[in-house]
Amino acid sequence: MKLLVALVVVGVLAVVAFLALRQGPAKQESSPQEAQIEQQKPSESSKSSEQISEQAKTIKAQDISGAAGVFTFSAEVPSHWQAQAVAATEAINLYDPNASGATNLEKSQIFIRNFKANSFLTLGTVTIHEQGDTTINGRPAVRYDIEKKPAVAQFANQPSWRSERHIVTDVRVSDSNPSIFYVIAKRPDLDDTVYRHFLESFKVSASQAGFTEPIDELRSRITKKPFGIFITPENSPVQPERFRGYHTGVDVEYTDKPDVDIPVRSIAAGQVVQAGRAAGYGGVLVVSHKIGDETKLSLYGHLDPASLAKVGSEVSAGQQIGALGEGGSAETDGERKHLHFGIIKGQTVNLKGYIQNKQDLIGWEDPLSFIE
Ligand SMILES: [Zn+2]
Repeated sequence: MKLLVALVVVGVLAVVAFLALRQGPAKQESSPQEAQIEQQKPSESSKSSEQISEQAKTIKAQDISGAAGVFTFSAEVPSHWQAQAVAATEAINLYDPNASGATNLEKSQIFIRNFKANSFLTLGTVTIHEQGDTTINGRPAVRYDIEKKPAVAQFANQPSWRSERHIVTDVRVSDSNPSIFYVIAKRPDLDDTVYRHFLESFKVSASQAGFTEPIDELRSRITKKPFGIFITPENSPVQPERFRGYHTGVDVEYTDKPDVDIPVRSIAAGQVVQAGRAAGYGGVLVVSHKIGDETKLSLYGHLDPASLAKVGSEVSAGQQIGALGEGGSAETDGERKHLHFGIIKGQTVNLKGYIQNKQDLIGWEDPLSFIE
């Protein structure tokens, strides 16, 4: 039996080889045509890449005149889109001025509402054809395919397509109870890639999501080592330099305030899982957080070991967990006065401040994508 199978395989291979040989010359004959197609390609592909790379712009809810204060999001939309607040439904309407329709509401592409609740809700007024859990920028979310029930009246002060079958994504904005939920509805004929790009770029303000800065002036004081920078003793903005590799966090500089106590706070609610001394850091502390349905660890390095919160203690967002160590002392393991702040994906503590392979940066988050 085995021999038979082997014979059949050999036979098939022989036929394939024969056909390949026969196709050789035929393929050559067609090559002029291929060359022509090749020549046409550049203009064609540049046209489509123009369409794809149509300038995106960032919309910020707080810049939209009359928008309800509950909206703190920012997200990217095609550059020619406009945004308006719809007071009657406490909504944000993102519309395409070039779309057909007599009113901006009828030109709506993405329509955003909100509700306050302890958990995801669905209304009795719609039929859910499909639903699935997802995550939008670390926040739990549910994607629904919904349709207004026939007996229910048309929804007022909303685009008419809200009364037709369409996709909606509900995002839970914080872990608190109750939480704000955003309801992000997609016009049925809107290209799904535009909608997905909107969701991938969608962020709510750190304070609304329950994240707070780990230290005052976080952004403006990251002047030397941002996330992901490749440091060598030769190129480092810090001299002399003893480290080499890709930076897994951000460094927040405080050498200009040698005599001031600089408090360091937990970025979110969580539990202290490590606190003590470690080589390269002096004092270091790690907090474990449940963010959405994932665990992440926040790491705070170069703290005064005497100032650290205890391992096992529960901390809230913004609660002080330590203070910066004194520059050039054992408190910072000889480093300048600064905070090394990193966010590790998953629940395994990894104290590495530098790594040698760029692709391993995937084990960390860019902290600035979490904290505004
Ligand atoms: Zn660092």
